[in-house]
Amino acid sequence: MAVSVHDESAIKALLSELGEKPFRYAQISQAVYKDAVPDIDSITTISKELREKLKPEVFFFTLKLRSEETSDNGQTTKFLFETHDGKLIESVIMRHLSGRNTLCVSCQAGCPMGCSFCATGKLGLFRNLTFAEILEQFDFVAKRLAKEDRKIRNVVFMGMGEPFLNYENLKTAIDVLCNQKKYDISNRRVTVSTCGIVPGIDRFAVDFPQTSLAISLHAPNDETRKSIMPVENTYPLSDLMAALDRYVEKTNKRVFYEYIMISGVTDHPRFAPELAELLRGRLAHVNFIPYNPGEGIMGNGMLPTSKLLIKKFQDALEKADVPSTVRHTMGDDIDAACGQLAMKEKGESLATESGKSISSAFSKKAE
Ligand code: SF4
Repeated sequence: MAVSVHDESAIKALLSELGEKPFRYAQISQAVYKDAVPDIDSITTISKELREKLKPEVFFFTLKLRSEETSDNGQTTKFLFETHDGKLIESVIMRHLSGRNTLCVSCQAGCPMGCSFCATGKLGLFRNLTFAEILEQFDFVAKRLAKEDRKIRNVVFMGMGEPFLNYENLKTAIDVLCNQKKYDISNRRVTVSTCGIVPGIDRFAVDFPQTSLAISLHAPNDETRKSIMPVENTYPLSDLMAALDRYVEKTNKRVFYEYIMISGVTDHPRFAPELAELLRGRLAHVNFIPYNPGEGIMGNGMLPTSKLLIKKFQDALEKADVPSTVRHTMGDDIDAACGQLAMKEKGESLATESGKSISSAFSKKAE
């Protein structure tokens, strides 16, 4: 069976089987990651004979670009890819005015977590992505941006899926992204976002103490969180906050809390002081995200909160010495919120094709 060019141990084993010296891997790695070659034929630092032997054994790219859309202001492009087995996944590049470029990648096809405000949650889970499929998203967009004379500076695991339910592939993908001899992205510029899988947070603190962690908090109390995020049934807020305290103790890193502002759901005036009290004294930064209803494709009747009310939340946090920002919504005109493009392409029928339920996903949660 052919192996991905990103599978270092498999390529090394293959080279050894072919009787090649170990330094051949360094030549291949240099060509793939530093010279950005598109295929084996382009690795001219190894012999033609070896290239011919490797060609049927090693693949570069399995994802097919199904569609792409760029926002009217040209800042955001959303790519919809199809996997070899017909699953749809999304990646989004955000070209910030400051010049930095942030890539948002997916780690699962669909998602089993069922958050009520999220288009991906409506799809259900199809399967975990392999580390190669995660890296192919990066590789494709990096090559595309190179044509614009731009580089990806930040990578966020905030696309489709719950990263900590696909921990091993996430880990390998981050290792390749941050390897200085490979893509050489700074660990600090990689952010993994979880809805609150406690064992995953504990493991992440040990494996990636330099990598940033974002938490989809979205509510300051159990009751409201439970009403929009089924994860709360398995990992209640008290367990989540205890895990985050352990994380901060171990890494001394600030945790980014994502808080989606949905009118009448997460923005009750009493939630502002409640959120401030929850985070007071904690190493935290809150990102308020105005809800993106996605041209009604969600069908949940949810609407974004007014700017004025978001400001009241920010004021309450400021009084508690908790810094916050309001995320600039990029790409509203192209359904850039996670899962919206796939949802639009396939329609609601996808949800019924999903073979996994939330409970089955938890049974294989990261330990
Ligand atoms: S918000 Fe994240 S965890 Fe929740 S359903 Fe969407 S992709 Fe899954």
